[in-house]
Amino acid sequence: MTPPPGAGRFAPSPSADLHIGNLRTAVLAWLFARSTGRRFLMRVEDLDDRTHAEIAERQLADLAALGLTWDGPATRQTDHPHRYAAVVDSLDRRGLLFECYCTRRDIAQAPRAPHAPEGAYPGTCRNLTDAERRARRHQTGRPPALRLRTDTAEFTVHDLLHGDYTGAVDDFVIRRGDGVPAYNLAVVVDDAASGVDQVVRGDDLLTSAPRQAYLARLLGHPVPGYAHVPLVLNAAGTRLAKRDGAVTLAEIGVPKAVHQIGESLGYTSPTVDGMLAEFDPQRLPRGPWVYRPG
Ligand code: GLU
Repeated sequence: MTPPPGAGRFAPSPSADLHIGNLRTAVLAWLFARSTGRRFLMRVEDLDDRTHAEIAERQLADLAALGLTWDGPATRQTDHPHRYAAVVDSLDRRGLLFECYCTRRDIAQAPRAPHAPEGAYPGTCRNLTDAERRARRHQTGRPPALRLRTDTAEFTVHDLLHGDYTGAVDDFVIRRGDGVPAYNLAVVVDDAASGVDQVVRGDDLLTSAPRQAYLARLLGHPVPGYAHVPLVLNAAGTRLAKRDGAVTLAEIGVPKAVHQIGESLGYTSPTVDGMLAEFDPQRLPRGPWVYRPG
């Protein structure tokens, strides 16, 4: 029997309408999945933005308007909260979690080892005694975050566009102090639960991939293949944002947006299906796309 094909996915957070950069990343994720015979899944990452159902609906409508198709209905993270709780429990039972009472400020101000990467967790709460934990809980008066007790400082992933990429793995957050599963946990658990073996997303998330791959391995899941695609910049050379104006599908219009995306990727076809016929990952532009409306 041939194994079922794997899956790619797009996983928008419903915090704002998608802009042309997000739409281009979605098109690329779709092209990578479809050109390799994979299923393509749509996942609304609404753990943080649970009140924004109408934004999620618009995001999905925009993606469909570009001509993208996905297999099965779009899923929402808030549809299955127990999925994350079960994994948190299993990690806890394995002794791999510890309570952390630090604020961002505590972490920024803590002394760190000479070669520790910028922003890495300095280990403040990793080895607290029970009595120290009780004292911290009392002092701060808020519930702790749960962090992963990692046994490495870095991990290497393979990326189709970046090659082997080695990045920091610190004792990262698994469940936030407010009880919400952390992004790194949710992504790994969701991708594994839905058979995703190809992760295509913006290269701002490349530095998160080593943590996620490390966690996937720890949970006994296969590590997906990655392709972190260049971000889109505005004329000033900084990351494109909604406030740049004239960047959403409603503002640009569908045919023009599809044309601009195709042109930025070096394709002549005016449709995403046509781009699929032309798609060659080796020929993708490696640098950022500077978007100029008009
Ligand atoms: N929800 C994340 C975002 O919109 C993407 C997560 C991922 O693709 O792993 O930036």
